[in-house]
Amino acid sequence: MTATPAWPPDSTPRLFIDGLLSEGLEVRIDDGQAHYLLSVMRIKVGAPIKLFDGQTGEWLAEATVLGRRDLILTIAGKLRDCETVPDLWLLAAPIKKARIDWIAEKACELGVARYQPVMTHRTNIERLNLDRLRSHMIEAAEQCGRTTLPTLGEPIKLVALLASFEAGRRLFFADETGGVPMLDAVTANPGPAAILIGPEGGFDTAERAAIMALPHAIGVSLGQRILRAETAALAAITIWMAATGTPD
Ligand code: SAH
Repeated sequence: MTATPAWPPDSTPRLFIDGLLSEGLEVRIDDGQAHYLLSVMRIKVGAPIKLFDGQTGEWLAEATVLGRRDLILTIAGKLRDCETVPDLWLLAAPIKKARIDWIAEKACELGVARYQPVMTHRTNIERLNLDRLRSHMIEAAEQCGRTTLPTLGEPIKLVALLASFEAGRRLFFADETGGVPMLDAVTANPGPAAILIGPEGGFDTAERAAIMALPHAIGVSLGQRILRAETAALAAITIWMAATGTPD
């Protein structure tokens, strides 16, 4: 007897839908997502599409009506529930456009629960386009198989962030001037965590003192070299995930 081929196939398009999904629901797709399915993927009636809404897991849908610029997908059933997301926040000072977009994408792929931009003295980015960051995280989630999106915080000043920082969460402060090797710090301090990364100019002296005054802050080192902020963010998330066992 021949084996049943895996259904849906691995190459099935996967889309985030901003609205709650359920079995039997007909979802109208337009704009960029319609262009992607109709013109890039050239799907036909009956084609399988995976959908997720960030809340109810992942669903299998089928293209039922194709228009010129839009289409209808009908949800056939659930493929899986939402996965457990490790309780890690990335707190990072905004940096130049392409680099912060990259941080948003990689943080999503690597599995953070929340991405919170933090405004510091040496942050020279005045306006942050959260919609653009969110769309980068959506694309990353579609591509990497996440069923939830990281939450995206409104930019917050460092002082306000520290004043309201929750007691049960460890703050790993990435400090290029030295600290506990990050792997050792995470191994010794499991549980809910946040990683704090400075801007290109680093934190100033008063900021460093304010961060370290927080009872739950630990200054951590990512090695002897001074990393760009986006490299530091990526390395720190990876170390935390590896040390905590990267739950699925
Ligand atoms: N302007 C600073 C470097 C800032 S690097 C200088 O020239 O000295 C940007 C951010 O990346 C820092 O604020 C820090 O949070 C993080 N970072 C860079 N290298 C690091 C390292 N080796 N260990 C820990 N954090 C680091």
